[in-house]
Amino acid sequence: MVHPVPEGGLVRAYIISGAEGLMVIDPGSVGTAEAVMSVIRRICGRSMAEVRGIVATHFHFDHIGGIRRVLRDCPAETSVLCHHRVRDYLDGVRPLPLMENWFTAFFTAALKSCRYFRRPSHLWFESLAGIPLPGFGNRFPPPFGKERIRWLGGDGRVRYGIGFDGWDVIETPGHTGDSISLYHEESRELLCGDLILNLDRDGGRLNPFCEDRATAEKHFVSFARPYAPG
Ligand SMILES: [Zn+2]
Repeated sequence: MVHPVPEGGLVRAYIISGAEGLMVIDPGSVGTAEAVMSVIRRICGRSMAEVRGIVATHFHFDHIGGIRRVLRDCPAETSVLCHHRVRDYLDGVRPLPLMENWFTAFFTAALKSCRYFRRPSHLWFESLAGIPLPGFGNRFPPPFGKERIRWLGGDGRVRYGIGFDGWDVIETPGHTGDSISLYHEESRELLCGDLILNLDRDGGRLNPFCEDRATAEKHFVSFARPYAPG
C-alpha cells in the first residue's frame, strides 16, 4: 500500500508499506524526512526499524536531500536504492545532466509547490549534491555513504523486481538519464518521480523540465496505456 506524505515540501514523497517492511521514496529535504518519519509512526503505525530501503527516483537534490536524516533512524542494513548511472556521477565519469526549460517549467512547478511548504526545513537540503547547474555537477558528495547504496539495473533490462512486496523498477529516463519509476502490477500503483507532474487539478502531465524531452515523452505515453512488459 502506498502512503503519500502530505507535508513533503517541494517533493512528493511516499512510503510503501508491505508484509516485508517499509520502503521510503524520495525524502528530498530534512523537512520531508521528518514528515516521512511522522507518517511511518503515526499514520502507518509502524517503526523505523522496519524500513528496508530508501529509493531515490533520480539524483536531484530535492529527492535526496533528506536521506541522511531518515537513515539515522533506520537499521544499519537499510539501503539507499539508486539507478546504476548515479555511480558514474559519483565517480566523476559522467557529469550530472543539465536541464532544459528552467524558466518555463522549473520555476512554474516550484511556485505551485509552495502550497506544500509548512516549515523552513522543507528548504534544508543536506548536501549540494544533485544540483543540475553548471559548476555544481559532480563536485559535492551525496549526503549518505556510498557503502549504503544498492545499485539498480546495469544489466540491460529496463524492468526488474526490487525484491520488495512485488514492486518493480521500470527505467524511465528523460527527466534525467538515471530516472526510475516504481510499479506494482497487481495494484497498478505507479510512482514516477519527476517524469509526470500532478500539480494541476486536471491530472498528471509530462514534466517539461528535463534532460531529454523526447525520451521523457516516450515513457509518459507508455504510462497512458496499460504497460506491456518487454
Ligand atoms: Zn528532478
